Amino acid sequence: MPGTTAVPTLPRCPRAATGPRPASGTQGARPTLHLDRAAVTANVRTIRAQTGSRVMAVVKANGFGLGTVPVARAALDGGASWLGVTDLDDAELLRRAGLTAPVLAWLHPGGLDVEQAVRARTDLAVGLVEELQQVVDQAPGLVRVHLHLDTGMARGGVPRAEWPALMRLARRAQDGGHLRVVGLMGHLPEADRADPERNAPGVEAFAVGLRLAVSWGLWPLLTHLGATAAALTDPATRFEMVRIGAGLVGIDPSSTTQLRAAGRLTAPVTHAAEVPAGTRVGYGGTHVTTSATHLSVLGLGYVDGLPRELSPDAAVEIGGRRHRVVGRVSMDQMVIDTGAISYPRGTLATVFGPAGTAAPTVQEWAAWAGTIPHVILAGIGSRVRRTVA
Ligand SMILES: *Cc1c(COP(=O)(O)O)cnc(C)c1O
Repeated sequence: MPGTTAVPTLPRCPRAATGPRPASGTQGARPTLHLDRAAVTANVRTIRAQTGSRVMAVVKANGFGLGTVPVARAALDGGASWLGVTDLDDAELLRRAGLTAPVLAWLHPGGLDVEQAVRARTDLAVGLVEELQQVVDQAPGLVRVHLHLDTGMARGGVPRAEWPALMRLARRAQDGGHLRVVGLMGHLPEADRADPERNAPGVEAFAVGLRLAVSWGLWPLLTHLGATAAALTDPATRFEMVRIGAGLVGIDPSSTTQLRAAGRLTAPVTHAAEVPAGTRVGYGGTHVTTSATHLSVLGLGYVDGLPRELSPDAAVEIGGRRHRVVGRVSMDQMVIDTGAISYPRGTLATVFGPAGTAAPTVQEWAAWAGTIPHVILAGIGSRVRRTVA
């Protein structure tokens, strides 16, 4: 046809007789975060025995990455009597799963939805006088409320100067039949270590708030202040209930109590190569091999929550041994130097897992990344498959 440019014919590529096939088993072994339910159950038993308090299992942030509902179930099996969430959507998730234990929600990141709370049969913690007023104005039925006092964090909770106004409004609303004040809550700033001395001002402030509530006739109240670190180390913070998040999944920020790690992250080797000395590995070539070695690649990267910058000690377990992570962690991949050993594609690596095996712990990963174990575990991304055992 006139005006039409002929498309040159490209030479055909000869077809390989057999293309590369994934090693058997690779397909079923995608990167996976395994929840050990029994570990959660055991941790709750340990914490109950040590504190003598009722336990609220805080299953926020998708149960610290391990699954809101399965972590909640495992905690209830261990004797937790309450469940705590930041978001009412999580409360609804628990109800839809058929869990009937009392639930408290305290953050309302999308704004407080009083109707949703009633629908999800969930108690609301109010951290502003204004929020309490909203509950009064919008209550579709009797709303159960916990008064959240700021006991030293300035990150939520009613500031101390406004406690009298809070109590007055709470009493009036309760008398008016809009709500029932069932709990008094505070939170302590020293959540990452054992430090009774530094807890003391928060404990004292909470006691002041409690006396004030009682003087307004707001009694009985379920009192709860301490989280994992305080609960395990400082009896003064225990009151009637302790709110346990990190401790459920085996993280004791106070490093005083033997808890069981509930999370194990595994991934198959997706690529393996033998390289000579002087090979630059990964983006920026930040690691150069000093001798001929074998490399294994895992399909996990910073988008999956693994930190991009790690100390040179960072390692994973493959074949029952520890091998170092080398070069920068990429978006979807990380490279492991396995020295003289060549692992076939599909070999399963454990990135972190319980203590007492060759696999590193989340605590070690946190140290390598200069952060806390919560960030590592709760930060594992949503495309990593979850399983429950
Ligand atoms: C996360 C959280 C907890 C649980 O804290 P851990 O240190 O993880 O046990 C308790 N209370 C509040 C208000 C929280 O936000």
